[in-house]
Amino acid sequence: MTIYIITDMEALSGISSFEQCYNPHGSPEYEYGRVQLTADTNAAIAGAFDGGATEVCVLDGHGHNQNKGFRQDLIDKRAKQVWISCFDPVRFEQFDESVAGVMMVGQHAMVGTRGAFLDHTQCLPSHIYRYRVNGTEYGEIGQCALCAGDYGAPFIYLAGDVAACEEVKRQFPWAVTTPVKRGLGWRRCELFPTDQVRSQIRADAARAVREIQGAKVFRLPAPLEITVDWTSNEFAEKLDGIPGVERPEPRTTRWRIAQGRDIYSWPSDKWHPHGTREKP
Ligand SMILES: [Zn+2]
Repeated sequence: MTIYIITDMEALSGISSFEQCYNPHGSPEYEYGRVQLTADTNAAIAGAFDGGATEVCVLDGHGHNQNKGFRQDLIDKRAKQVWISCFDPVRFEQFDESVAGVMMVGQHAMVGTRGAFLDHTQCLPSHIYRYRVNGTEYGEIGQCALCAGDYGAPFIYLAGDVAACEEVKRQFPWAVTTPVKRGLGWRRCELFPTDQVRSQIRADAARAVREIQGAKVFRLPAPLEITVDWTSNEFAEKLDGIPGVERPEPRTTRWRIAQGRDIYSWPSDKWHPHGTREKP
């Protein structure tokens, strides 16, 4: 049984500042952040194996890390490290129909969430004001669940701030969650004791795998209509003239994708808010 773990940084248990996720590589704050990323991920890896996984893949989904976030001297080597490619179409390495379930670690809430720490969807600084699929707001958690669902894999687990856990309970109520901290403001949070939290991540991730039969595969009717409200015309107008993209309002763009696995692809390979990522 293969369990696939996708990580982010903003909602890790030891992270309490923007700089720990975004300072240039090599800064002390960012290096500290990498240690936190690796520790939370290790707890989830251990839990997945405890719960019965025979293979665990881990993907560093924090774009700023460019696939290099995990501390190689600390990461649990039982897990297979896989890569994300931002070249069109965006795909996760080894994510296919053989994956039994997907987990997220360090994952933050969707843009515009009250009481969330560093909430955003896709872009930080947050150029996206609102992101909808078939008319309903989703964030990065929803994107992941939709992508996984397209391959027949349920979204089973999340470790993140309280607001991200609440988003999961609202949109994917079958999934197990571990709250790791509470947002007090966009840049402020109350950390929960990290040792306790990591033990809980391990226990909860194990339970999510043991209870995988009760998890649902998330799918929406295709073609999927993606509607993005941008914070400024500046971003919306960059998509002008791309075949298939409508601009019903000055700051709103809309396009369709045929399948959930294309959820991370933008309508033009010439423009991407994250830039490109390369294999290390
Ligand atoms: Zn993110």
